[in-house]
Amino acid sequence: MRHDRPSGSTAAEVLARVQSTDADGTTASACVDALYVHVPFCMHRCHYCDFFTLAGKDDARSAYVDALLAEASATIKAMHFAASPTVFIGGGTPTYLEPADLDRLLGGLAEALPVAPGEWTVEANPETVTAQVAAVLAGHPVSRVSLGMQSAQPHLLKALERQHDPAAVPRAVDHIRSAGIDDVSLDLIFGIPGQQVPDVHADLAAALAMDPVHLSVYGLIYEPGTPLRRRRDRGKVTPVDEDAEVDMFTSVQQLLAGAGFEHYEISNWAKPGHRCRHNEIYWTNGNWWPLGPSAAGHVSGTRWRTIPRLKAWMDQRTDGLPPVVDLESLDADAVMGEVLMLGLRRLGGVPNDTIAAACSTPKRGKHRATAISTHTAAGLLHDVDGHLALTRSGLLLADHVISDLL
Ligand code: SF4
Repeated sequence: MRHDRPSGSTAAEVLARVQSTDADGTTASACVDALYVHVPFCMHRCHYCDFFTLAGKDDARSAYVDALLAEASATIKAMHFAASPTVFIGGGTPTYLEPADLDRLLGGLAEALPVAPGEWTVEANPETVTAQVAAVLAGHPVSRVSLGMQSAQPHLLKALERQHDPAAVPRAVDHIRSAGIDDVSLDLIFGIPGQQVPDVHADLAAALAMDPVHLSVYGLIYEPGTPLRRRRDRGKVTPVDEDAEVDMFTSVQQLLAGAGFEHYEISNWAKPGHRCRHNEIYWTNGNWWPLGPSAAGHVSGTRWRTIPRLKAWMDQRTDGLPPVVDLESLDADAVMGEVLMLGLRRLGGVPNDTIAAACSTPKRGKHRATAISTHTAAGLLHDVDGHLALTRSGLLLADHVISDLL
């Protein structure tokens, strides 16, 4: 992997890298399938969170929207978009923007885009979704709202330091649907300290009662550098034991299969026709452009992240574009590693011809072929319709299997 210039680069430089110039001097950028917009503001910083989020910076929200729209206009006009690209506005808490600022952000993006998005998702936290906010979302081409439910039980929400009470979730869903957006996705977490398997059943029952078309169910991760991790390391928090976590994950699989959901990625389930197209672009190594501080992007093997500091992102622009960090162009071996790492998260797996290419790269190819044989013999990988995929047991050991193939 070539890792060049971890800092000091700009998004203008990235644009130049992903553009090509024809013999007649015409410049064309690689085709972008998706746009990711990072809104970093939150009401409160939850102690398990390792995203770039800002609590207590409410005064900066309006200036952030000005800067985001300036970045969008400088970027989007230089870019070639696929038909029906996806837009995902995540964070942070996008719906923590003032309604007028949220309206400006959505309207400005819709106006800047040269093609109509095929899917437009906004992440939201339940306590921030009022009837007014839902009306703002529905006034633009927003097609999905992804709501951070996490649990339906007060003591588990408290253990996560979430700010909402359980009743806020159905209230937010009502506002979203009354405003005219039908597709609601709910995020849940399992493995919360103090949680037991029946709690997971109760959380899923509460989620299903709201008739979501999509569910993301994640195991709690004690991310390095977070207050929760430090509390665990000091013995102040007792993690759920591994066997119970396996039981929780298995329960989620069984209950959601019974409710008509397709398990299509390790942590994601959808009703037929309602997979998250945007995330599918990530998992199939598509091209997406990032906007906003600390937003990660990928175009044709080049990866980078917009600078994760609000002031530097706003003030240090070149040709209207912000500084970036972690800029790297991957070699063939590293590209194949990424394809496997992301693709094997999908239950449909990775096509066999891609696997053959991954096993023929100069550095890691041979090692991968051996690792695939070993994990297949152990029942952790199998062939599904011409694709290599994790088995049911393999899903429980996904990190171990995938890291062996990188
Ligand atoms: S609301 Fe979400 S993004 Fe904000 S701090 Fe909590 S977990 Fe992180």
